[in-house]
Amino acid sequence: MAATPVIGVLALQGDVREHLVALAAADAVARPVRRPEELAEVDALVIPGGESTTISKLAVLFGLLEPLRERVRAGMPVYGTCAGLILLADKILDPRSGQETVGGIDMIVRRNAFGRQNESFEASVDVRGLGPVEGVFIRAPWVESVGAEVEVLAEHDGHIVAVRQGNVLATSFHPELTGDHRVHGLFVDMVRAKAAAGSR
Ligand code: GLN
Repeated sequence: MAATPVIGVLALQGDVREHLVALAAADAVARPVRRPEELAEVDALVIPGGESTTISKLAVLFGLLEPLRERVRAGMPVYGTCAGLILLADKILDPRSGQETVGGIDMIVRRNAFGRQNESFEASVDVRGLGPVEGVFIRAPWVESVGAEVEVLAEHDGHIVAVRQGNVLATSFHPELTGDHRVHGLFVDMVRAKAAAGSR
């Protein structure tokens, strides 16, 4: 792999543009991914926030769900925010009918978990390895429980909101909306580390 990693943003629905900007700011080459051929050409992928049911249905329609599952299984680094976190969960507690996940993190998530009266809010979140990060939560899920292999990176109000398992990273909140690119930087570091390990 070239020195600068090429990171795709799954561009079926959701806040794609903000992730492209954040990744570029974190020294990656960022490009949208809509087709299996485009997925095959990236070193890593971001799954944006949006609506997890819609993204899952479009992924099936665009023939991307199986290729995505395969690449995640094969160790491609992936970062999911909000709806993206839901798609990376091995299990959804309250899926809509027909809602599929890509999987990759041994966790159970609860959609729209923070409740109606608290649909969107901002809070400072202490992320392991980064310190306080401004968390933008928009109808956000939380992680109900995790398996032994999952590293919990942050909690808010006693609920897990950032996790990592191997090359898969996920946050309930949206760092792409704040102009602070440290979480994307953390992901780009994961992608570089994976590439370095692979080329040894
Ligand atoms: N509530 C949405 C879902 O279930 C996620 C919201 C978001 O990505 N901001 O997919």
